[in-house]
Amino acid sequence: MERKTHILVIPYPIPGHINPMLQFSKRLASKGARVTLVTTTSLSKSMESLQEGSVYFETISDGYEEGGNLKIVDARLEHFSLVVAQSLAELIERQNSSQHPPKFLVYDSVMPWALNVARQLGVDGAPFFTQSCAVNAIYHHAHQGSIEMPLKTPSVSLPSMPSLGINDVPSFFNDTASYPALLKVVINQFSNFQEANWIFCNTYDKLEHEVVNWMASRWPVKTVGPTIPSMFLDKRLEDDKEYDLNLFKPNADACMNWLDTKEIGSVVYASFGSLAALGEEQMAEVAWGLKNSNCYFLWVVRASEEKKLPINFLQETTEKGLVVTWCPQLDVLAHKAIGCFMTHCGWNSTLEALSLGVPMVAMPQWTDQPTNAKFIVDVWKVGVRIKVDEKGIVTREEIEMCVREVMEGERGKEMKKNSMRWKELAIEAVDAGGSSDKNIEEFLAKLAHS
Ligand code: UDP
Repeated sequence: MERKTHILVIPYPIPGHINPMLQFSKRLASKGARVTLVTTTSLSKSMESLQEGSVYFETISDGYEEGGNLKIVDARLEHFSLVVAQSLAELIERQNSSQHPPKFLVYDSVMPWALNVARQLGVDGAPFFTQSCAVNAIYHHAHQGSIEMPLKTPSVSLPSMPSLGINDVPSFFNDTASYPALLKVVINQFSNFQEANWIFCNTYDKLEHEVVNWMASRWPVKTVGPTIPSMFLDKRLEDDKEYDLNLFKPNADACMNWLDTKEIGSVVYASFGSLAALGEEQMAEVAWGLKNSNCYFLWVVRASEEKKLPINFLQETTEKGLVVTWCPQLDVLAHKAIGCFMTHCGWNSTLEALSLGVPMVAMPQWTDQPTNAKFIVDVWKVGVRIKVDEKGIVTREEIEMCVREVMEGERGKEMKKNSMRWKELAIEAVDAGGSSDKNIEEFLAKLAHS
């Protein structure tokens, strides 16, 4: 019997990285590869919800055996690299002498040292970038020293990209002192990436064709996204209906039943992802902005954020709104009642909205989100961006105006049309013969003959 090509995949253990890399693993497995997703111990408790299907799982130590510590905090990062470099090497050694010796390691681009670990043990490897190609290119330019940090000019021009204003570049460029270890991580993604024979990116060709072409003409960049469960896109993988890792328990029935009672396009869905924490004043502005828009709204306020809701807000909005601690976001965005998505512009949320055809009200917070917002508004033309006032706050009036513009305005109709186009192109990319599909097949074919 012919042995399947065995591929190991190791994401950094936070949901925004695990989900896309697990989805990529499912695509590889659907095309005949044996895929083992390597998780690390700090995630082990949340892993209980992960069940082996087409992808196998292995857990190695990251020095946090107790679980529950999923944040990227500065002190953690160095320790993580040291421990995982060692435990990953041990895993590869074990696997090398098993019945299924691995042929390849796909590692999270924030762990560039994994390439050396694998190659020293005779296994080739390639990074997987979980963020947009534009953001990758920006960090690459920063690594080359061609962007000053902090940025002192009002805007910056980079190859194959629109001019980026000071509020469009990743937040680290404005405030280099804020997260020094994280800044180092994003820049270091490019420390050895030229040595890799494949560079996987969670985006799709047509979405970012200029910057993808620029990168692909220099390095073996392969777009393989969007990494959204197949049943929302090409529907070729029947069991691929959702992300397998849910950090929080979603109030699924409550959300879907409530949405079922609403008219087409009448609901604003608001969520700021799994990490962002708004200040109390900002929460109040969002709350009253949503209420004043007079639209129905479904708002995800994580349990740790609930105490910041204004007193009486829930009582005053029972007719119009539903506030939940977590929701099945893909099902929500795919629901016909949703008219727009008020989002922090995390890359996964952005790709989900583009792939499901939902226009956005962009309220970026930090890291790559400002850059995603710039593209949402000026390149893909699928949303408006909420302006921040001189105190750094987004006011309720501004929120109300932006929501109304997308929900009711003429420009909103245009954005909806554009969103539907990006949705078609997302499906085309992952469907049989599409750009992402072909890139995955090409990778597997080369690997089989290497
Ligand atoms: N998400 C979800 N339910 C929610 C809110 C978010 O399932 O109530 C998911 C969403 O579908 C996305 C992820 O959480 O896949 C958020 O990732 P993103 O990159 O947008 O932001 P982050 O959480 O990393 O800031």
